[in-house]
Amino acid sequence: MSQSRLQELRAQVDGINLQILELLNQRANIVSEIGQVQQQMGVSFYDPQREAFMLNMLEQNNKGPFSNETIKALFREIFRASMALEEKEARAKILVQRKTPDQRTVITMPDGVTQIGNGAFSVITGSCAIESYEQMDTVAAAMAQRGIKFMRGMAYKPRTSPYDYQGMGEEGLKIARQVANKYGMYVVSEIMDKSQIEMFSDYVDVFWVGARNMQNSFLLKALGKIRQPIILKNGLASTLEEFLYAAEYIVSSGNPNVILITRGIRTYEKWTRNTLDLGAIAVLKLESHLPVVVDISHSAGRRDIAIPMAKAAKAAGADGLMVEIHPNPPVAMSDAKQQLTLPQFNEVMDALA
Ligand code: PEP
Ligand code: MN
Repeated sequence: MSQSRLQELRAQVDGINLQILELLNQRANIVSEIGQVQQQMGVSFYDPQREAFMLNMLEQNNKGPFSNETIKALFREIFRASMALEEKEARAKILVQRKTPDQRTVITMPDGVTQIGNGAFSVITGSCAIESYEQMDTVAAAMAQRGIKFMRGMAYKPRTSPYDYQGMGEEGLKIARQVANKYGMYVVSEIMDKSQIEMFSDYVDVFWVGARNMQNSFLLKALGKIRQPIILKNGLASTLEEFLYAAEYIVSSGNPNVILITRGIRTYEKWTRNTLDLGAIAVLKLESHLPVVVDISHSAGRRDIAIPMAKAAKAAGADGLMVEIHPNPPVAMSDAKQQLTLPQFNEVMDALA
């Protein structure tokens, strides 16, 4: 008798479980629809006031036996699950998000053979700043010996202090172009403002957006309108999500040729300028199909650890690295402590081989 009563009650519980399951998924579908409407309206799907209202309504209608606290805890869990679903769906929709395990963006330069993101490990190098024709020519000659195609030539320097060296400006870009042409290289240079795009197009092959401009959405949108590849650096205090949304600004504006470059993150450590974030390299490679390059100069701030930094970047799955080199680093106009001498640069290249 009691055995059959037990079976009957259990069958009722099973039935209710299935009803709750049905209702939970029905609820998720409706919440998802709300998310789409909110996205069209340009508002965030997390609305704390709405959540408070729903909890209040449940409390008012709770007839027990569960306490209000228990009911609220259970429903908060349901709300959280819906939010997580929404966030996952929203992320999956962004263009820079990897959709399949083998999806990758390969940047191909005008010669048709120079690439970044094709599975090989690329090196971008040159001095922190353009200082003279002789300096750039010396550096490029050393790079040519190693078959390097991407020449860093910065003519505008976003310095911390306005009294520090600010760069040669357009005169510097002319030098970079001349030297790059001599050695058959591509000029990579940092752009500070969207008003410079036209002028840069005369000299520069790869436009670089520095850490300080990562969230300059007007610049990013303008760079989305050109065809040249863009190297985008993570901001001074940006999360990986913010970094990828910055890349999304460029890609969604029409330019798919984006390379991510990481300078590490600011931490409490003082013996390195920043902290090289190996996890970020792995996560960016996993979450996005864009090539990832590691700035081993600004993440270290010193030249004596370049070899292990370079090896670590490669081992973490990066598509390449960027390192600053100078014919005579101690007298460099900027970043004198971290630029490699030309023999040190050759040691790094040997270590990577
Ligand atoms: C640079 O790479 O030239 C530079 C200025 O670095 P960051 O934007 O990381 O400060
Ligand atoms: Mn520098």
